[in-house]
Amino acid sequence: MSKVLVTGGTGYIGSHTVVELQASGYEVIIADDLSNSKKEVLQGIEKISGILPTFYEIDICNKPAVEALFDQHQIDAIVHFAASKAVGESVEKPLLYYKNNLISLVNLLEIAHGRNASLVFSSSCTVYGEPDKLPVTERSPIKPAISPYGNTKQIGEEIIRDVVEATQIQAISLRYFNPIGAHDSVAIGEYPQGVPNNLVPYLMQVAAGEREQLSVFGDDYSTPDGTCIRDYIHVVDLAKAHVIAVDRLLQSKNDKPYEVFNLGTGKGYSVLELIKTFEQVTGVKLNYAIVDRRAGDIEKVYADTTFANDVLGWKAGKELDEMLLSSWKWQQSLG
Ligand code: UDP
Repeated sequence: MSKVLVTGGTGYIGSHTVVELQASGYEVIIADDLSNSKKEVLQGIEKISGILPTFYEIDICNKPAVEALFDQHQIDAIVHFAASKAVGESVEKPLLYYKNNLISLVNLLEIAHGRNASLVFSSSCTVYGEPDKLPVTERSPIKPAISPYGNTKQIGEEIIRDVVEATQIQAISLRYFNPIGAHDSVAIGEYPQGVPNNLVPYLMQVAAGEREQLSVFGDDYSTPDGTCIRDYIHVVDLAKAHVIAVDRLLQSKNDKPYEVFNLGTGKGYSVLELIKTFEQVTGVKLNYAIVDRRAGDIEKVYADTTFANDVLGWKAGKELDEMLLSSWKWQQSLG
């Protein structure tokens, strides 16, 4: 049984990936400092898979602690989610983001180098900035980052590329579009801390009566209804792509040391389309108001998924209505 270390494994995408890895027969070890997640997520994972993953409460920036973990386990692959991810906070505290997101990556690469472990890296469509051409392919130009958070993803990818070039390490970077939804069992899902920054968690809290009104950030963009367009993807579809990435890295016949894949559905929806779809599928009327644009927002971005479809044999299955129902079911379960 191959062993996979999932850093950030109690987080939103991490926990869903742990479940899918377990279902595919991997033994999963989680390392998470619980800075943005709860230990109870481990019980949620166990509820779904019947397996309580081995858990280490450690910060990946603490290299001796990570080395000690590797001394106890023969790790074949690392899926590295652990990172700070709030765009606004990264503007206020850039050094915190460079430290958390880059030192952790360098630590893992140094340790992986000595021990023949492969790496799957959580990247983001933020690297494309405001694209000149849509949909974006993996070869679309990388734009100067708008936030320190986005910059850590770009620099992270560059670090991996250089290290793969110079060593035996194999790696895959996955550029996520906008993950939403939760596991169908509602044993795991997203727990936003404080006021949600992202559209769907905020919308769900308004729909549940926990918040007054959803602010729609701008309706004067050059899109059909004036609101921004994104590629929303179900978190379980996203999680499954990680399993395929790990499978691929561990197959000795894979002769590509470093690859990058877009993970989206390939379909773009505007904020107003998403709200309308939510209202239609749930029958819940949403209180929202159009307000000013949010600084730094991208007007429209959605993925060309051909490369992931063809090379990984992976395709996102869930449509927007199912995804929103999934988020709503999760929100209601928090009740
Ligand atoms: N958005 C919004 N109100 C909110 C949060 C987000 O109108 O309370 C919009 C935002 O301007 C963007 C889209 O929803 O057009 C997705 O935003 P999110 O923060 O979820 O993802 P990202 O901007 O990182 O793609």
